[in-house]
Amino acid sequence: VKNIGKVDPDFVRSFQFEKKLMPSTWIVIRIDGCHFHSFSKDHEFVKPNDERALNLMNSCAVAVVTEFQDIVFSYGVSDEYSFVLKKDSQLYQRRESDIASAIVSFFTSMYVMKWKYFFPRKELKYTPFFDGRAVCYPSSQILRDYLAWRQVDCHINNQYNTCFWELVKSGKSEREAQNVLKGTQTLEKMELLKQFGISDYNKLPVMFRQGSSAYWEKEDISLVEEKGAASNGKCQKKVILEHCNIIEPSFWNSHPNILG
Ligand code: ATP
Ligand code: ATP
Ligand code: MG
Ligand code: MG
Ligand code: MG
Repeated sequence: VKNIGKVDPDFVRSFQFEKKLMPSTWIVIRIDGCHFHSFSKDHEFVKPNDERALNLMNSCAVAVVTEFQDIVFSYGVSDEYSFVLKKDSQLYQRRESDIASAIVSFFTSMYVMKWKYFFPRKELKYTPFFDGRAVCYPSSQILRDYLAWRQVDCHINNQYNTCFWELVKSGKSEREAQNVLKGTQTLEKMELLKQFGISDYNKLPVMFRQGSSAYWEKEDISLVEEKGAASNGKCQKKVILEHCNIIEPSFWNSHPNILG
């Protein structure tokens, strides 16, 4: 404080640099739980899929989409969520660290605030935290490829984890289960699941197989007017959560406004 008069603010500021995300590109912020392998064990998540934990993630994602209105779509699985900002978003003048840090911190606060509603009888033993990164995609086709990649990953991981935990439940150690599955292909895993009484993988809950998508429901003007909401100027838009196939073009064809 003594020498404060000697500090040149412009000089100090000159060390900061702002990384701006490429203009006119879809911005994806992907957040992922840090050390959730341990966090899920320490909080006794049901394996391979704890429904409460997934519902908590989804509820936080809906809150994020509602708060940051430039987000047009989001997709989540396990401890991760991807948030897509519209191409021409000017949020934080497209400064990467501001956008990523604001979204990841909002999500984390929500996760802690909402914990007790999804795990009413389980104490939060320590603070969960998430990391976040930004990636720009220059076309809606490449963005869709990105989302498809995450959903394929969801499928592959879920198939593996379902087999893994069936083997563990049958008495194998985690290491043994890992060895059994090493190098196995999809068909072999399907056969294995049949032995454990899961004759049809596709009958497993759709949230486990396909992950979750949160996005703004298509505005139906006529509906809005019927409800008399148009007169008070309030928009009837709301965020919905679905478990849909986002790899197939049909989803995007039937929701042209999302990336439109
Ligand atoms: P990192 O810090 O590098 O992300 P991580 O331990 O979080 O490491 P991930 O690859 O992100 O590892 O995997 C997430 C882990 O959290 C997996 O082990 C997964 O089993 C567990 N997990 C996340 N969500 C659930 C859930 N709903 N039910 C059961 N387990 C879950
Ligand atoms: P932005 O989102 O752009 O950061 P902001 O509203 O957070 O906007 P800041 O420039 O970061 O604005 O200023 C922080 C604000 O929070 C100030 O208005 C300040 O008065 C208030 N504030 C922060 N800490 C305290 C505190 N300990 N006591 C009283 N007010 C505080
Ligand atoms: Mg990570
Ligand atoms: Mg993680
Ligand atoms: Mg993860």
